[in-house]
Amino acid sequence: MEKGDGQRKGPKFNIYWVYGIIAIVLILAQVMNFSPELKVISEQQFRNEILLPGDVQKLDLVKNKEQVHVYIKSDRLSKEFYVKQFKGRLSADKVKGTPLFAFEVVDWKAFEERLDTFCKANNVAEVEMRVVKAPEWFGPLLNTVFTLLIIIVAWILLMRKMGGPASGGGPGGIFNIGKSKATLFDKGAKVNITFADVAGLDEAKVEVMEIVDFLKNPKKYTSLGGKIPKGALLVGPPGTGKTLLAKAMAGEAQVPFFSLSGSDFVEMFVGVGASRVRDLFKQAREKAPCIIFIDEIDAIGRARGRNAIMSNDERENTLNQLLVEMDGFGGDTGIIILAATNRPDVLDSALLRPGRFDRQISIDRPDVKGREAIFKVHLGPIKISETLDLHKLAEQTPGFAGADIANVCNEAALIAARKGKEAVDMSDFQDAIDRVIGGLEKKNKIIAPHEKSVIAYHEAGHAVCGWFLEHAYPLLKVTIVPRGTAALGYAQYTPTEQYLYNTDQLMDQICMTLGGRAAEQIFFGKISTGAANDLQQITRIAYSMVTAYGMNKKVGNVSFYDPSQENTFTKPYSEETGKLIDEEVRSIIDEAYQRTIHLLTEKKEQVEKLAKELLDKEVLHKSDVEELIGKRPFEEKKLLEVEETPPAATEVIAEETAAPDTNTTTDSNETV
Ligand code: ADP
Ligand code: ZN
Repeated sequence: MEKGDGQRKGPKFNIYWVYGIIAIVLILAQVMNFSPELKVISEQQFRNEILLPGDVQKLDLVKNKEQVHVYIKSDRLSKEFYVKQFKGRLSADKVKGTPLFAFEVVDWKAFEERLDTFCKANNVAEVEMRVVKAPEWFGPLLNTVFTLLIIIVAWILLMRKMGGPASGGGPGGIFNIGKSKATLFDKGAKVNITFADVAGLDEAKVEVMEIVDFLKNPKKYTSLGGKIPKGALLVGPPGTGKTLLAKAMAGEAQVPFFSLSGSDFVEMFVGVGASRVRDLFKQAREKAPCIIFIDEIDAIGRARGRNAIMSNDERENTLNQLLVEMDGFGGDTGIIILAATNRPDVLDSALLRPGRFDRQISIDRPDVKGREAIFKVHLGPIKISETLDLHKLAEQTPGFAGADIANVCNEAALIAARKGKEAVDMSDFQDAIDRVIGGLEKKNKIIAPHEKSVIAYHEAGHAVCGWFLEHAYPLLKVTIVPRGTAALGYAQYTPTEQYLYNTDQLMDQICMTLGGRAAEQIFFGKISTGAANDLQQITRIAYSMVTAYGMNKKVGNVSFYDPSQENTFTKPYSEETGKLIDEEVRSIIDEAYQRTIHLLTEKKEQVEKLAKELLDKEVLHKSDVEELIGKRPFEEKKLLEVEETPPAATEVIAEETAAPDTNTTTDSNETV
């Protein structure tokens, strides 16, 4: 299902066309206002029903057709005879000036005599008569031909729109439906944004440097037979500078930059998305080397539906077309496709395969240092007072993304201008920050200073616990920079290469996971909802220990592990055993919690140190922690290379509850 099915073969029949054509015909019928056809009657009928009551307005003697056309006085139309004949389709203004009846006449002379005698005999006033040539025959015909012509033209246009190259038309034409809306930043001057305009994001910059270098001199890479990535996925919350980074890449490499949003592909008309993708790549090929940037790729790249009801044909066609195009050009074409999303988890796995978006560059909200750098960039054009403290500004804006900071700078300038100041000072920024927070509160997660310190102690608790527990994973970094929309902070560990766990290791893992809550308890005397995710994890581990791994003395060496989940309703154990299991799980967790509290009370000083430093720096790497509280007292064996750590094991203290997944407790990517 990766290649476009039938996309290349040209137009597919589509039910919407039929709807369209029916609509056109209806509209035309309305506009043309077809006159009622002539009713053919006998001369006898004419005389008795029309002439005798005096309804005739005039008569046309159409000699070349051997017919007489009868016009009726408009005030007589409501008479029963006419209503019956035309089944009520008559109205005075509709039939004005059109004959309604016709009857045949072969011998004109005899007819005139007959009419004359009839009129005299019945005392009917003479009627107006004129001799005409028949022009009427081509009137209705013209109407029909004209209508048909319009339908055919509309049909052809539609076919060309839908069909693409195979039907000879290709995208373009009067409606421009199939044209991609990509904005091209080319127009003579190239993109003039460079890496200097992108503050922070140092790790991401290093990763994209290679791509920039390739765009600058592709020969260097291809001559060695290397394959260059075709695409990279920029993953991060909105406003963190994904578009900016992509633009800066184009600016650094001095190549054209195509930018468009995933939602631009999704249109009302079937087939338009695929056609736009084709057009985009056609344009890009002409301008290569170049960069294509697709914002919000999740709009088209969502995993294709597994059930018929939920599936969306149009989006799937678009996605298929994108895959086809990405496979279609060689690595040396010089087209790099960048895409941005903040939901990499919902993307179709086909998009993430090698040769497509096989690189993920993660772009998180900036930490204090990053925010300071971003402030510096955006303060450039602003007249600021000398007393402005950049570091303080950065400290006061935890959780802000780059776009929010740009917003703050702009607001501050406006506020100062309103007050008629010479330069923007700290108080203006204070007001601006308040205002931006007010706006953000509904949209985004921003963190109040008090919450920030709870989070810092929570994370420090995890880190210290892990540091002094022999079997815990070695710490990589701990941060209180919010990540995505769900996580407030996290501690990241390097998982060891390990597939078997013993009781001690699992117990240590539980303790470490409880470290956050224990720290909150010790330092604040109360606990918060931030540990919900931690609790979910330890509950899972503890239940697995008792019911799956046979690690509990009382329950014994039994395993109720049920991968097929067949027994969701009937448990494979008795009610007593069920009670016992619950009790044992509780006692495991209680024991672990007591142990954690004990450990952290002993190491209170260290937790405090880490938490304070976290509040200041927001990110602490392993080396920072070593500096603060000394080397870890246990030897670390069998470390994975840090670079190889696939999706880093992270811990999430968030209130968002993910559905518990019961059998991943021994996964080496265990999130702790
Ligand atoms: P995204 O594409 O991630 O939603 P953008 O790249 O559109 O975010 O960022 C919006 C604006 O925020 C940028 O135009 C820039 O002014 C500002 N911005 C964001 N991140 C940064 C950064 N790291 N350095 C400087 N400015 C930034
Ligand atoms: Zn936690």
